[in-house]
Amino acid sequence: RPDDEDTSTITPMMAQFLEIKAINPGYLLFYRMGDFYELFFEDAEIASGALGIVLTKRGKHRGADIPMCGVPIHAANDYLNTLIRLGHRVAICEQVEDPAEARKRGSKSVVKRDVVRLVTPGTLTEDELLPQRGPNHLAALAMLRHGEADFALAWADISTGEMMVMDITAAALGDELSRIAPAELLLSEAAAEALRALGLGRAVAHMVLRPPEAFDSSQGAETLKSAFADGSVDPTAFSRAARAALGALVAYVAETQKGAAPALRPPTQERVSSHMAIDAATRYSLELVETQRGQPKGSLLAEIDACCTPAGSRLLARRLVAPLTDARAINARLDAVARLLETPALTRAIRQGLRAAPDLMRPLTRLSLERGGPRDLFAIGSAIRAARDLGAALSGEARLPADLSAIAEHLAAAPEALGAELLLAIGDNPPLLAREGGFVAEGYDGALDGERALASETRAVVAALQARLIEMTGVKALKIRHNGVLGYYVEVPASHGRTLLEGDFPDRFLHRQTMANAMRFTTAELSELEGRIARAHEAALGLEMAIFARLREAVLMETGALRGVADGLAALDVAAGLAHLSAARGYCRPEIDDSLAFAIEGGRHPVVEAMLGAENRTFVANDCDLSEGALWLVTGPNMGGKSTFLRQNAVIAILAQTGSFVPAARAHIGVVDRVFSRVGASDDIAHGRSTFMVEMVETAAILNRATARSLVVLDEIGRGTATFDGLSIAWACAEALHDETGCRALFATHFHEMTSLARTLARVSNHTMAVREWEGDVVFLHEVKGGAADRSYGIQVARLAGMPDRVLKRARLVLTTLERRSSGGSGAVLDDLPLFAHQPPPPEPRTDMVQTLLDSLRPDEMSPRQALDALYDLKKAR
Ligand code: ADP
Repeated sequence: RPDDEDTSTITPMMAQFLEIKAINPGYLLFYRMGDFYELFFEDAEIASGALGIVLTKRGKHRGADIPMCGVPIHAANDYLNTLIRLGHRVAICEQVEDPAEARKRGSKSVVKRDVVRLVTPGTLTEDELLPQRGPNHLAALAMLRHGEADFALAWADISTGEMMVMDITAAALGDELSRIAPAELLLSEAAAEALRALGLGRAVAHMVLRPPEAFDSSQGAETLKSAFADGSVDPTAFSRAARAALGALVAYVAETQKGAAPALRPPTQERVSSHMAIDAATRYSLELVETQRGQPKGSLLAEIDACCTPAGSRLLARRLVAPLTDARAINARLDAVARLLETPALTRAIRQGLRAAPDLMRPLTRLSLERGGPRDLFAIGSAIRAARDLGAALSGEARLPADLSAIAEHLAAAPEALGAELLLAIGDNPPLLAREGGFVAEGYDGALDGERALASETRAVVAALQARLIEMTGVKALKIRHNGVLGYYVEVPASHGRTLLEGDFPDRFLHRQTMANAMRFTTAELSELEGRIARAHEAALGLEMAIFARLREAVLMETGALRGVADGLAALDVAAGLAHLSAARGYCRPEIDDSLAFAIEGGRHPVVEAMLGAENRTFVANDCDLSEGALWLVTGPNMGGKSTFLRQNAVIAILAQTGSFVPAARAHIGVVDRVFSRVGASDDIAHGRSTFMVEMVETAAILNRATARSLVVLDEIGRGTATFDGLSIAWACAEALHDETGCRALFATHFHEMTSLARTLARVSNHTMAVREWEGDVVFLHEVKGGAADRSYGIQVARLAGMPDRVLKRARLVLTTLERRSSGGSGAVLDDLPLFAHQPPPPEPRTDMVQTLLDSLRPDEMSPRQALDALYDLKKAR
């Protein structure tokens, strides 16, 4: 039968591989072979391509070569990192028994192997694989099945155990997904379909389709109950969709971690309205966490992050993309910063202490997943000590505001005895893995010290034995050496081999090996010694492993308190960092309430200011008052500082509600529910939409979603289309914002015609960027003043940009023509020729210039002076 032939060509190892591969579809299988993980078949082809490693073959399967590639164990994390970043998921398959066991079963049998872990982008725990200063989220999206598209989104950071859930409408999904930025999103096919219909098909880098059953809400409740067996989570406290999302999330974590208990915290419920909504376009436009080029450096976060610990930076990043909307909570945060600012010596001491405090949550999670090592224990010990010291420093202070005393309480609850024990037990520079041994400090455990003494004592005995054998044989070059194959052996130069073989000594030399210039022997005493050394070493390692297990257990017992400590340390770091920043940069405390005020005096843009500062230039501070739904129309030349001014006001609102002081002399802000900022070009060409289309889609979103509490900052609406279209759209948008939304708004435009809106709309006023002309050049003063820009200075700016003289000359002429034509009443209102932006009117061929000028002349309406000018122009155009 053909089947027989098939089975006979499959080796037992291949059979095992195929079986394991079949139950882990969708994963690249890292199959453990000695010191390598090997990949076979299609996995090997994918991995060798992705990793740039050699693709070879190993054996045959059904008559064909088996493609194979391998990665060494010691470098496996680097390779994993690359694969995960590329969106692959990896199953780690280990040997789960001693090879000796397999040999006992017979020569043909293979070592038992099993998948011990599935590595996916959202479930990483290793420091080398995780982003240092940002969170790594795994998320699950559940959709209520019966048509109405209501969702729940659950997300967790496996590396720290935090878990959140939120009921959410379809309209808010895009914003929240982009804020949470999941590394991996679990969802059903139907939910994926719904996301695509919402235009969010590309909102998340890695989507993982799960079967509909995974999102069953009653199953979800069961999963929650068994994951939090201590009863700390009541599933009925969550909506049906939330139970489904949480269930899917927790089950996936269990599935990928293969039963190792993940230290997830009870989920926290979030509400969409509890934080300021900042959509993806706004975050991009304001460069909150990364620049428009995708770099963290140069972003607002990078500028204000003065935290001393990665956990502090992570918390600050999380707060910055989700500022608060509750004035009391914001003021509580500000109180903490203000108090630390008043006591600079305390703040310095706190920051000093924080620098000495290692990360707590990630080591804790690794320990709970049985992936931790001595280094993690040591880190936890040091963090506890630092927390106690900091807690004591804080508690010693009078009049602590609520946020700081809450932090002090958390820190005071740090398990002191455990911390002391850990630091006593683990020696300096502990290894990453417990099985390497040697990490328990001298003097911690009597029995261990005994075994270690024995081991080092036997080493002295080896030295003594060597001396005795030299004396006995008279071979001065005799050495006792050790290697992995022979163990301990006696080695003499080849010329002395005979002496040992044939000599009549009280100790018999048994020949083991002949090398090119040496011979190797052993003796009964040496073998016996060898056994003793190995036993002492093994016993010592056994004791160390037991100590490790006991300490790990003790740490996990304190998980609750340690989480509190971690939270306290991070919150303290954020407050102290912001206090430090305010002092260094001269920020002020914003006045936050539930009014509709937005009054900024002497506001600055933190990032632009820092950039200018680096070049020894000063930033010109500017006021802005949008209180009670005012709309400021800002005109002025390119490069005048419009976008900086627009952005800085949005940034100040965000910073204030994050709980930070702000770069201004004074700021009064009534809580803002959403910030919309569209400043600077946004290119979505990769996604096949034109700039104009993108702009219109985004503007539509603003008009549909802004409320009277929102802050809207718009730059040059309508610039991507013909002048009349653009002007009409911009005009209508300004009217709608003013009449319907009534929000606080900044509106920058190139259309000077719009400045006449100030005459008809009550809350609209005109503002412009001050400019001085000097010997034909423009000098930008970067100062915002009342009134409309009189000219756009486009040609002067072009000159600054190094445009060739002949082009500039020609441009000036075209401009004169156009201006004259429009003042001649031909109906065109082109008093602006922005650089590259609008479609310019077709430049007339030179020969037609005279004709054009002549056509534009209306002698009856001209003053003698204008007539004379026109004559000069005509002469020039020839
Ligand atoms: P616009 O949007 O009007 O073209 P930008 O806001 O991009 O102008 O500003 C152009 C440059 O002017 C900035 O890169 C910055 O160096 C400088 N600048 C802007 N605002 C200020 C200010 N308030 N004080 C000092 N320099 C400024």
